[in-house]
Amino acid sequence: MKKFALPVVLLLAPLLASCASGSPDDAASSAPPPAAEGEVHWSYDGEEGPDEWGALAKDFAACETGDAQSPIDLPDHAAEKVKGHPKITSSPTVGESVDTGHTIQLVPDGDASEIEWKGNEFDLAQVHFHMPSEHTVEGKALDAEFHFVHTTESGKVLVLGVLAQEGDAENEAWQPFVDGAAEPGSDELPIDVAAMLPTDPTFEEYAGSLTTPPCTEGVDWVIYHEPIELSAEQIAVLKGAYEDNARPIQPQGDRVAYEGTITVNQD
Ligand SMILES: [Zn+2]
Repeated sequence: MKKFALPVVLLLAPLLASCASGSPDDAASSAPPPAAEGEVHWSYDGEEGPDEWGALAKDFAACETGDAQSPIDLPDHAAEKVKGHPKITSSPTVGESVDTGHTIQLVPDGDASEIEWKGNEFDLAQVHFHMPSEHTVEGKALDAEFHFVHTTESGKVLVLGVLAQEGDAENEAWQPFVDGAAEPGSDELPIDVAAMLPTDPTFEEYAGSLTTPPCTEGVDWVIYHEPIELSAEQIAVLKGAYEDNARPIQPQGDRVAYEGTITVNQD
Protein backbone atom coordinates (compact mmCIF):
# COMPACT_ATOMS: atom_id res chain seq x y z
CA MET A 1 0.00 0.00 0.00
CA LYS A 2 2.74 2.39 0.96
CA LYS A 3 4.15 2.03 -2.55
CA PHE A 4 1.14 3.93 -3.96
CA ALA A 5 1.04 6.78 -1.48
CA LEU A 6 3.53 8.97 -3.29
CA PRO A 7 2.13 8.61 -6.84
CA VAL A 8 -1.38 9.52 -5.57
CA VAL A 9 -0.07 12.74 -4.04
CA LEU A 10 1.79 13.58 -7.25
CA LEU A 11 -1.37 13.01 -9.29
CA LEU A 12 -3.43 15.25 -7.03
CA ALA A 13 -0.95 18.11 -6.93
CA PRO A 14 -1.55 19.45 -10.47
CA LEU A 15 -5.33 19.03 -9.99
CA LEU A 16 -5.28 21.15 -6.86
CA ALA A 17 -3.08 23.72 -8.56
CA SER A 18 -5.42 24.06 -11.54
CA CYS A 19 -8.44 24.46 -9.23
CA ALA A 20 -6.70 27.31 -7.48
CA SER A 21 -5.81 29.10 -10.72
CA GLY A 22 -9.32 28.70 -12.13
CA SER A 23 -10.83 31.48 -10.02
CA PRO A 24 -13.08 33.85 -12.00
CA ASP A 25 -11.31 36.73 -13.70
CA ASP A 26 -13.55 39.49 -12.45
CA ALA A 27 -12.59 43.00 -11.49
CA ALA A 28 -13.32 42.34 -7.84
CA SER A 29 -10.70 39.65 -7.35
CA SER A 30 -6.98 39.92 -7.59
CA ALA A 31 -7.01 38.28 -10.98
CA PRO A 32 -4.80 35.35 -11.97
CA PRO A 33 -1.94 35.99 -14.39
CA PRO A 34 -2.83 36.28 -18.09
CA ALA A 35 -3.65 33.07 -19.94
CA ALA A 36 -4.18 31.09 -16.73
CA GLU A 37 -5.47 27.60 -17.44
CA GLY A 38 -9.24 27.47 -17.92
CA GLU A 39 -9.55 31.24 -18.36
CA VAL A 40 -11.64 32.52 -21.29
CA HIS A 41 -9.74 34.99 -23.43
CA TRP A 42 -11.32 38.35 -24.17
CA SER A 43 -10.01 41.64 -25.46
CA TYR A 44 -10.95 45.19 -26.35
CA ASP A 45 -11.08 44.71 -30.13
CA GLY A 46 -11.64 42.16 -32.88
CA GLU A 47 -13.21 38.73 -32.48
CA GLU A 48 -12.93 38.74 -28.69
CA GLY A 49 -13.87 42.43 -28.37
CA PRO A 50 -16.69 44.04 -26.33
CA ASP A 51 -19.44 43.29 -28.90
CA GLU A 52 -18.61 39.59 -28.65
CA TRP A 53 -18.04 39.23 -24.88
CA GLY A 54 -21.53 37.85 -24.23
CA ALA A 55 -20.95 34.99 -26.69
CA LEU A 56 -17.46 34.00 -25.50
CA ALA A 57 -18.64 32.08 -22.43
CA LYS A 58 -21.87 31.09 -20.71
CA ASP A 59 -20.75 33.07 -17.63
CA PHE A 60 -20.37 36.21 -19.77
CA ALA A 61 -24.05 36.32 -20.89
CA ALA A 62 -24.79 39.47 -18.86
CA CYS A 63 -22.36 41.39 -21.11
CA GLU A 64 -24.94 41.01 -23.89
CA THR A 65 -28.29 40.48 -22.17
CA GLY A 66 -27.90 42.64 -19.07
CA ASP A 67 -30.00 45.78 -18.75
CA ALA A 68 -27.92 47.59 -16.11
CA GLN A 69 -24.47 47.55 -17.69
CA SER A 70 -21.50 49.86 -17.20
CA PRO A 71 -20.01 52.24 -18.14
CA ILE A 72 -22.59 54.92 -19.01
CA ASP A 73 -22.46 58.56 -20.09
CA LEU A 74 -22.79 60.73 -16.97
CA PRO A 75 -24.50 64.10 -16.77
CA ASP A 76 -22.36 67.05 -15.65
CA HIS A 77 -24.60 67.26 -12.59
CA ALA A 78 -27.30 64.79 -11.54
CA ALA A 79 -30.57 66.40 -10.48
CA GLU A 80 -31.53 63.71 -7.96
CA LYS A 81 -29.80 63.57 -4.56
CA VAL A 82 -28.53 60.31 -3.02
CA LYS A 83 -29.96 59.07 0.25
CA GLY A 84 -27.39 58.93 3.02
CA HIS A 85 -23.77 59.90 3.11
CA PRO A 86 -20.87 57.52 2.40
CA LYS A 87 -17.80 57.70 4.62
CA ILE A 88 -14.32 56.58 3.59
CA THR A 89 -11.73 55.69 6.18
CA SER A 90 -8.29 55.69 4.57
CA SER A 91 -5.37 53.88 6.20
CA PRO A 92 -2.04 54.38 4.44
CA THR A 93 -0.42 51.03 3.67
CA VAL A 94 1.64 49.36 0.95
CA GLY A 95 0.75 47.01 -1.87
CA GLU A 96 1.87 45.06 -4.91
CA SER A 97 1.31 45.75 -8.63
CA VAL A 98 -0.23 42.91 -10.64
CA ASP A 99 -0.51 42.61 -14.42
CA THR A 100 -3.89 40.97 -15.13
CA GLY A 101 -3.45 40.89 -18.91
CA HIS A 102 -6.04 43.69 -19.24
CA THR A 103 -4.79 46.33 -16.81
CA ILE A 104 -2.42 46.83 -13.88
CA GLN A 105 -3.88 46.39 -10.40
CA LEU A 106 -2.45 47.79 -7.20
CA VAL A 107 -3.40 45.29 -4.49
CA PRO A 108 -3.05 46.50 -0.88
CA ASP A 109 -1.37 44.21 1.64
CA GLY A 110 -3.73 45.24 4.43
CA ASP A 111 -6.66 47.58 4.98
CA ALA A 112 -6.14 50.59 2.70
CA SER A 113 -9.64 52.00 2.72
CA GLU A 114 -13.09 51.15 3.96
CA ILE A 115 -16.36 52.72 2.84
CA GLU A 116 -19.37 52.72 5.17
CA TRP A 117 -22.66 53.22 3.40
CA LYS A 118 -26.22 51.91 3.41
CA GLY A 119 -25.43 49.67 6.37
CA ASN A 120 -22.54 47.96 4.58
CA GLU A 121 -18.78 48.00 5.09
CA PHE A 122 -16.89 47.83 1.81
CA ASP A 123 -13.14 47.08 1.90
CA LEU A 124 -10.74 48.04 -0.88
CA ALA A 125 -9.66 44.94 -2.84
CA GLN A 126 -7.61 46.61 -5.61
CA VAL A 127 -7.16 49.74 -7.74
CA HIS A 128 -6.73 49.55 -11.53
CA PHE A 129 -7.01 51.84 -14.53
CA HIS A 130 -8.60 52.22 -17.95
CA MET A 131 -7.28 54.46 -20.70
CA PRO A 132 -9.14 56.48 -21.93
CA SER A 133 -11.89 56.77 -19.30
CA GLU A 134 -14.79 54.30 -19.50
CA HIS A 135 -17.45 56.64 -18.12
CA THR A 136 -17.89 59.74 -20.23
CA VAL A 137 -19.22 63.10 -19.04
CA GLU A 138 -21.72 64.69 -21.43
CA GLY A 139 -20.31 62.53 -24.21
CA LYS A 140 -16.65 63.23 -23.57
CA ALA A 141 -14.04 60.70 -22.44
CA LEU A 142 -11.24 61.85 -20.17
CA ASP A 143 -7.61 60.68 -20.42
CA ALA A 144 -7.96 57.86 -17.87
CA GLU A 145 -10.19 56.36 -15.19
CA PHE A 146 -9.19 54.61 -11.98
CA HIS A 147 -11.40 52.03 -10.28
CA PHE A 148 -11.12 51.45 -6.54
CA VAL A 149 -12.93 48.10 -6.28
CA HIS A 150 -14.47 47.58 -2.84
CA THR A 151 -16.30 44.47 -1.62
CA THR A 152 -18.23 43.41 1.47
CA GLU A 153 -17.76 40.06 3.19
CA SER A 154 -21.02 38.90 1.61
CA GLY A 155 -19.78 39.78 -1.89
CA LYS A 156 -21.48 43.15 -2.59
CA VAL A 157 -19.35 45.34 -4.86
CA LEU A 158 -18.91 49.12 -4.79
CA VAL A 159 -16.54 50.72 -7.28
CA LEU A 160 -15.23 54.18 -6.47
CA GLY A 161 -14.37 55.78 -9.82
CA VAL A 162 -11.84 58.58 -10.27
CA LEU A 163 -11.49 60.27 -13.65
CA ALA A 164 -8.11 61.68 -14.64
CA GLN A 165 -6.85 64.26 -17.08
CA GLU A 166 -3.46 65.62 -18.01
CA GLY A 167 -2.15 68.53 -15.95
CA ASP A 168 1.15 70.33 -15.56
CA ALA A 169 2.54 68.83 -12.37
CA GLU A 170 3.46 65.30 -11.30
CA ASN A 171 0.82 63.88 -8.97
CA GLU A 172 2.92 62.58 -6.07
CA ALA A 173 0.16 60.49 -4.50
CA TRP A 174 -0.21 58.51 -7.75
CA GLN A 175 3.51 58.05 -8.48
CA PRO A 176 3.72 54.67 -6.64
CA PHE A 177 0.85 53.40 -8.82
CA VAL A 178 2.67 54.66 -11.93
CA ASP A 179 5.91 52.97 -10.76
CA GLY A 180 3.98 49.73 -10.24
CA ALA A 181 2.56 49.96 -13.77
CA ALA A 182 6.07 50.46 -15.17
CA GLU A 183 7.23 47.35 -13.31
CA PRO A 184 4.46 44.84 -12.60
CA GLY A 185 5.26 42.63 -9.64
CA SER A 186 6.69 45.55 -7.64
CA ASP A 187 5.83 45.36 -3.95
CA GLU A 188 5.99 47.71 -0.98
CA LEU A 189 4.34 50.40 -3.11
CA PRO A 190 2.88 53.10 -0.82
CA ILE A 191 -0.94 53.47 -1.00
CA ASP A 192 -2.55 56.53 0.57
CA VAL A 193 -6.13 56.49 -0.68
CA ALA A 194 -7.09 59.83 0.91
CA ALA A 195 -4.24 61.55 -0.97
CA MET A 196 -5.17 59.82 -4.24
CA LEU A 197 -8.77 61.10 -4.26
CA PRO A 198 -10.00 64.43 -5.68
CA THR A 199 -10.52 67.32 -3.24
CA ASP A 200 -14.12 68.10 -4.20
CA PRO A 201 -16.32 65.54 -2.34
CA THR A 202 -19.09 65.60 -4.97
CA PHE A 203 -19.89 62.28 -6.68
CA GLU A 204 -22.48 60.70 -8.92
CA GLU A 205 -23.93 57.29 -8.10
CA TYR A 206 -25.81 54.79 -10.22
CA ALA A 207 -26.49 51.03 -10.33
CA GLY A 208 -24.37 49.20 -12.91
CA SER A 209 -22.05 46.27 -13.57
CA LEU A 210 -18.43 45.20 -13.80
CA THR A 211 -17.06 46.75 -17.02
CA THR A 212 -15.13 43.56 -17.84
CA PRO A 213 -16.41 40.00 -18.35
CA PRO A 214 -18.42 38.48 -16.72
CA CYS A 215 -20.11 41.97 -16.59
CA THR A 216 -21.86 41.02 -13.33
CA GLU A 217 -24.63 43.46 -12.34
CA GLY A 218 -25.49 44.76 -8.87
CA VAL A 219 -22.39 46.96 -8.73
CA ASP A 220 -22.80 50.26 -6.90
CA TRP A 221 -20.90 52.95 -8.85
CA VAL A 222 -19.70 56.05 -7.00
CA ILE A 223 -17.82 58.35 -9.38
CA TYR A 224 -16.10 61.53 -8.31
CA HIS A 225 -17.25 64.61 -10.18
CA GLU A 226 -13.84 66.31 -10.12
CA PRO A 227 -11.06 64.63 -12.12
CA ILE A 228 -7.56 64.30 -10.69
CA GLU A 229 -4.60 65.52 -12.72
CA LEU A 230 -1.57 63.49 -13.76
CA SER A 231 1.50 64.78 -15.58
CA ALA A 232 2.08 63.96 -19.28
CA GLU A 233 4.96 61.70 -18.15
CA GLN A 234 2.74 59.77 -15.71
CA ILE A 235 0.09 59.27 -18.39
CA ALA A 236 2.76 58.13 -20.86
CA VAL A 237 3.99 55.45 -18.41
CA LEU A 238 0.44 54.14 -17.86
CA LYS A 239 -0.11 54.09 -21.65
CA GLY A 240 3.08 52.09 -21.97
CA ALA A 241 1.48 49.42 -19.78
CA TYR A 242 -2.07 49.46 -21.22
CA GLU A 243 -4.19 51.70 -23.40
CA ASP A 244 -7.45 51.35 -25.31
CA ASN A 245 -8.74 49.15 -22.49
CA ALA A 246 -12.07 50.94 -22.06
CA ARG A 247 -15.45 49.29 -22.66
CA PRO A 248 -17.78 51.46 -24.81
CA ILE A 249 -20.67 53.17 -23.00
CA GLN A 250 -23.80 51.09 -22.46
CA PRO A 251 -27.50 52.04 -22.69
CA GLN A 252 -28.64 53.81 -19.50
CA GLY A 253 -32.26 52.65 -19.87
CA ASP A 254 -34.42 53.93 -17.03
CA ARG A 255 -31.53 54.10 -14.57
CA VAL A 256 -31.11 57.36 -12.67
CA ALA A 257 -27.82 58.98 -11.65
CA TYR A 258 -27.80 60.57 -8.19
CA GLU A 259 -25.53 63.24 -6.79
CA GLY A 260 -24.06 63.28 -3.29
CA THR A 261 -20.98 64.08 -1.24
CA ILE A 262 -18.54 61.72 0.43
CA THR A 263 -16.52 62.19 3.61
CA VAL A 264 -12.90 61.04 3.74
CA ASN A 265 -11.22 60.39 7.10
CA GLN A 266 -7.59 59.51 7.62
CA ASP A 267 -7.17 56.59 10.02
ZN1 LIG B 1 -12.30 48.85 -14.12
